[in-house]
Amino acid sequence: MAKQVRVRFAPSPTGDLHVGNIRTALFDWAYARHTNGKFIFRIEDTDTTRVTDEYIAAAIDTLKWLGLDWDEGPEIGGEYGPYLQSQRLDIYADWAQKFIVQKDAYYCYCTAEELEERRDAQKAANVAPGYDGKCRNLSENQLASFKAEDRLGVVRMRMPEGETTFVDQIRGEISFDHKFVPDFVLVRGDGSPLYTLAVAVDDISMKVTHILRGEDLLSSTPRQIRVYQAMGVKEEDYPTFAHLPFVMGQDNAKLSKRNGEVSIAWYRDKGFLPEAICNYLALLGWSPGDDVENITMQQLAELFTVERVNSSPARFDMKKLEAINGDKIRALTLDDFLERSLPFLKSAQVIMGSDDEIALVKSALPIIQERITRLDEVPAMLKFLFTKNFAVEEDSLSKVTDTASKEVLKRSLAELTALGEWTHESIEATLRSSLIEELGLKPRIAFGSLRIAVTGSTISPPLFESMELLGKIVSLKRISSALAL
Ligand code: GLU
Ligand code: ZN
Repeated sequence: MAKQVRVRFAPSPTGDLHVGNIRTALFDWAYARHTNGKFIFRIEDTDTTRVTDEYIAAAIDTLKWLGLDWDEGPEIGGEYGPYLQSQRLDIYADWAQKFIVQKDAYYCYCTAEELEERRDAQKAANVAPGYDGKCRNLSENQLASFKAEDRLGVVRMRMPEGETTFVDQIRGEISFDHKFVPDFVLVRGDGSPLYTLAVAVDDISMKVTHILRGEDLLSSTPRQIRVYQAMGVKEEDYPTFAHLPFVMGQDNAKLSKRNGEVSIAWYRDKGFLPEAICNYLALLGWSPGDDVENITMQQLAELFTVERVNSSPARFDMKKLEAINGDKIRALTLDDFLERSLPFLKSAQVIMGSDDEIALVKSALPIIQERITRLDEVPAMLKFLFTKNFAVEEDSLSKVTDTASKEVLKRSLAELTALGEWTHESIEATLRSSLIEELGLKPRIAFGSLRIAVTGSTISPPLFESMELLGKIVSLKRISSALAL
């Protein structure tokens, strides 16, 4: 029987999770689901100066919001926990000790200044920079005298000569010459572990079988493999690596705040749906084939394979994300659309949330569902239904006060006052015959002025439906107020 697949997503939340992190999390999740494996969520918080509890909580929240459910990790635990590295410090310390005893690692007492001096010398001599191995073979006496000086020693891994070769599932065979992988620090002077130690120890102790992660971590792989070796792991038991291509900005530079938005919190606030974000990010470096672009999470899990992941960088395209978001909004049921829109309407203070307001929102949503690409457009679209002190917006004023508009408003007021049944069909029929056929006006001009008169803005749903929702009394009142402007 094949080994059960175990994939982990292991962020170091030093801020909000960003697009790149989430693309990685999504592929990890999809791979685990595709293979009926386990998706493990581990928080790498050993850098306590940069990872805060708040960021950890936000990371957990973001994964939940996106629907990337994990089988082991924070809040739910699991067989190989704890899943916060800050709660596993003893495990790393024990391994580091063992490595020292085995002579795979050693104490290094070089100070920062000494290291820098030697690095400058390396630069001047044109040799590859990096630790020069000075403390590799300190005698007992030397060790004792450094300790007596109260120097804080770091623990360094001994890199043997030679090279590390492994097969990356996306990039193929990769070799690192150890000339460029100098002895590296496992434990800081204060006893805290570094990423390389913690990540490798955890991947082995949590029985991780596959590591899918960003390309930025490719160069750390030979160091991690060195740790596996020191742990006594057999080569056939190493996890399989797959390094995902970078996500670039439109300008082909690495995606960052500068050339795009990276924080997932930003997308959430803008009214991007989690399923749209996941759908779009799935296409960054992977494709389901056959030009298919709109997929569900279920389909992603069914279709995802590492073979279809591209090795070349993917380019982030906001327009495409928006298009997918619009599609996902149109696919929502009315109740779902309502539920997701309410927080936006409340935070924009368009509604307080009473049952009457919610009922009105529900009747209005179908007329905007085809027209918006993000949920944060809902408040501007619907506020005309709720404003207590209605007024035509400043920059639209000129479009209702010119003579032609006055004519339209006057005629509409008369026709609509006489109108019996108040439905969008009857409103439309009346206005078309009086304004377009009889007065010979262009629909865009006639209905444009009316739309501003009743909704106050050029950003609004279609005119006739809006009037029906507003009701006869309010609609007529707004038209006569506009006439008075
Ligand atoms: N914690 C690392 C980071 O956020 C990633 C660990 C890994 O995937 O190997 O950069
Ligand atoms: Zn040293």
